[in-house]
Amino acid sequence: MADRNEKVLLELLKLPGNNVCADCGSRNPEWASYNLGIFLCPRCAGVHRGMGVHISKVKHLKLDRWEDSQVERMKEVGNINAKLKYEERVPPCYRRPKENDPQVLIEQWIRAKYQREEFCYPERQGYVSGYMVGFLMKRGKEDSRYHPRKFILSEAEDTLKYFVRENKEPKAILRLSELNVVFAPEKIDYPTSLQLTFLKDGTTRHIYLYHEDPEVITNWYMAIRCAKLHRLQVAYPSASEEDLVGYLTEDFAKEGWLWKTGPRTTDGFKKRWFTLDNRKLMYHDEPLDAHPKGEIFIGHALDGYSVRIGVVAGVKDQGFSFTLHTPDRIFNLSAATESDRDQWLQVLEKVIDRPLTPQDSSISVRLVRKRANTNSMSIFSPR
Ligand SMILES: [Zn+2]
Repeated sequence: MADRNEKVLLELLKLPGNNVCADCGSRNPEWASYNLGIFLCPRCAGVHRGMGVHISKVKHLKLDRWEDSQVERMKEVGNINAKLKYEERVPPCYRRPKENDPQVLIEQWIRAKYQREEFCYPERQGYVSGYMVGFLMKRGKEDSRYHPRKFILSEAEDTLKYFVRENKEPKAILRLSELNVVFAPEKIDYPTSLQLTFLKDGTTRHIYLYHEDPEVITNWYMAIRCAKLHRLQVAYPSASEEDLVGYLTEDFAKEGWLWKTGPRTTDGFKKRWFTLDNRKLMYHDEPLDAHPKGEIFIGHALDGYSVRIGVVAGVKDQGFSFTLHTPDRIFNLSAATESDRDQWLQVLEKVIDRPLTPQDSSISVRLVRKRANTNSMSIFSPR
């Protein structure tokens, strides 16, 4: 009996839609929710289990015993039908997580789908309204403690403001159209945290935030994306929604420690925390610094940008060194391992091969102008 049911399940698993996880799209699901009638990967099955059996009842396809009625339910629903129901009204600005995305994104996507049924009832999507107000914990600029700060997002004004004292002027006003927001759980130590990056006076500023409630932090993330999308739709009415969605937020292509020399060949290598944010390669003393020590705009290959293995003559190779060539300067860099160096080369090459968008060009102009004024990119950073 059990054997027959297992066989039916494995046949169902081959059907289009069922061959990938219903929630993150990863291949070859091994689990299922037998009341919802969907096939799941181990990670998403774990999230389903966490919601409780009143929402989702999870079983392993091979290791658990299946009743006939449960198999029948799987046959009846399946991933495609479940998607039609639970994803009927996912707003275009909503980031649908993929396999390797941060846990908080996956978890909130699943809870939004089945627990809160946000995509069946759009009135539950507070993040699409273009306005959000609330308290978030913000890391101090000079100290490492987090303090509650009131934030107000306004799509109409294109701003995200935060306040140290409620009835005073905002401490900072960020332009939504110029900021990037990423989940950075490994770095920030809180799984429910966000990093905002934006240009201020020609230099990048980082802000680190968290909220205890994963739903709240995810709603802020989606609210920023939604407001950005609506503004882009107004600015570029003929552009397709699909194209515009690609410009809302961009995860850092890579972050990590590298060693870097100064501008002179006699300078020694110094350890710096590097972040590749779209076309901006920034380096910092510490991962959670408020400002980069320096930032390098990565242009297109045709404009003289390239990366190569090894260092320039006169510089001591550290083992896993590489050089970044820009029209003004060659940067000698070094990674801790070969595979890390290769990953950096790969992500940098990808950027160098990609044509510049109008937004890229405007960032380049602003960074370059600053450099022309000061003769040194790091002069704005006090440390
Ligand atoms: Zn999954």
